[in-house]
Amino acid sequence: GVDIRGLHKSYGDNEVLKGIDLEVKPGEVVCLIGPSGSGKSTLLRCVNLLEQPNAGIIHVGGFEATDLDVNLDTMRQKVGMVFQQFNLFPHLTVMQNCTVAQTKVLKRSAAQAKETAQKNLTRVGLGDYGDRFPDQLSGGQQQRVAIARALSMDPTLMLFDEPTSALDPETVGEVLAIMRSLAKAGMTMLVVTHEMSFAKEVADRVVFMDGGVVVEEGPAKDVIGNPQQPRTQDFLRRVL
Ligand code: ATP
Ligand code: MG
Repeated sequence: GVDIRGLHKSYGDNEVLKGIDLEVKPGEVVCLIGPSGSGKSTLLRCVNLLEQPNAGIIHVGGFEATDLDVNLDTMRQKVGMVFQQFNLFPHLTVMQNCTVAQTKVLKRSAAQAKETAQKNLTRVGLGDYGDRFPDQLSGGQQQRVAIARALSMDPTLMLFDEPTSALDPETVGEVLAIMRSLAKAGMTMLVVTHEMSFAKEVADRVVFMDGGVVVEEGPAKDVIGNPQQPRTQDFLRRVL
């Protein structure tokens, strides 16, 4: 799981995260919602140290991510990240995309890396696509490769940043289905999403952020179904 305490992040004078407390327990799925610019992506980027927080403590899977002595590679192998833009390596095959970090970071043998990648590609329904290049796949297929690539590092936590926002409507469902099955399998997940029906169905908890603070959190049926805070009500009125 992940435990975030008192997280602050500024860009120059712009304080984007103003003291965030957020916990995702092992096996839990938390959906993070909120308006554009509220700091959702910045929060995820702080968790896997793509951004350096200005203050606060983040624990991931028992390690303190914000401890400067903790190796960045150690942290990032524990945290899988899936972005809106799939960020696959265009010059590598699907298989190579899923093995490169395993061999370079985890020092797995080529054979071991390939076996793990094959298992995860099969899991996302792309077991026969290892030899293709990313530009030979649909957006939904590319995003499923990105998920398989992240899973191949055996992460203790998966972060998703609007994983379906860049997809054609007809491929959104296949990516959500994979995420649903991951959740069922007990993966710990923190998911930024605008898919309120997904959040309602899959999230153990929903967190609504606005202006760099957590405004409201709780079970989806409460936060989405019966929000208490005016800012949450206003946001949901606009997106639902
Ligand atoms: P969206 O729903 O549009 O993705 P978000 O909630 O993910 O929005 P962030 O991307 O975290 O919001 O951005 C929060 C604020 O931080 C914005 O005002 C943005 O301009 C600013 N910001 C984000 N990244 C940087 C950066 N690298 N340098 C300077 N400012 C940044
Ligand atoms: Mg964002």
